[in-house]
Amino acid sequence: MSRGMLVIISGPSGVGKGTVLKEFIQDPELKLAYSVSMTTRTRRPGEVDGKNYYFVTREEFEAAKERGELLESAEFVGNYYGTPKKSVDALRDEGKNVILEIEVQGAKQVREKCPDALTIFIIPPSMEELERRIRGRHTEPEEIVQQRLTKAAKEMEHVGDYKYVVCNDDPKLAADIIRVIIKRHMEFNEEQERKAAQK
Ligand code: 5GP
Repeated sequence: MSRGMLVIISGPSGVGKGTVLKEFIQDPELKLAYSVSMTTRTRRPGEVDGKNYYFVTREEFEAAKERGELLESAEFVGNYYGTPKKSVDALRDEGKNVILEIEVQGAKQVREKCPDALTIFIIPPSMEELERRIRGRHTEPEEIVQQRLTKAAKEMEHVGDYKYVVCNDDPKLAADIIRVIIKRHMEFNEEQERKAAQK
């Protein structure tokens, strides 16, 4: 059995990464597993510890980072986010393709460590629509909304660092396109392995 791929999904805050992900993550053909990140931000209504994130204190986060337990980490709008390395490695060893839903700085760190990671950037149909989606969440104070909007414009500048760019005009359509990208890469990797074995 071949080792699973790393699939990085980035995109500005509010673009709907989570909604798009939900549409394809269960597809058995794609053999996907979601990497649960660690964060110091407060839990939003409906979020579950250990499922959406591991919600930790700054001290706990810093200690994990110091022990070398994070594949990557970044600060985003005043909070820390990071990917636990051990579970990612274990899932890939089981042949699972691991989805990292992370922001651009963390994605850069992963690309440097794993250049063959499959990288996908989700863009909104327009910046006006993005603002509407961020405001539509109604969970954050205006100050944080403003910070997320400024951050979103900055994040959009990194679109060129990614192998694929997918517009989230409609989550189902965006998910279908991502499905094709992942599927085709799985086939390509299998072809490469077959060729290598024949040599
Ligand atoms: P949110 O607070 O909206 O859940 O996430 C804020 C941003 O942090 C999003 O762009 C999300 O993709 C990113 N993020 C979530 N987990 C991680 C992580 O483990 N590492 C990095 N670098 N970014 C993350």
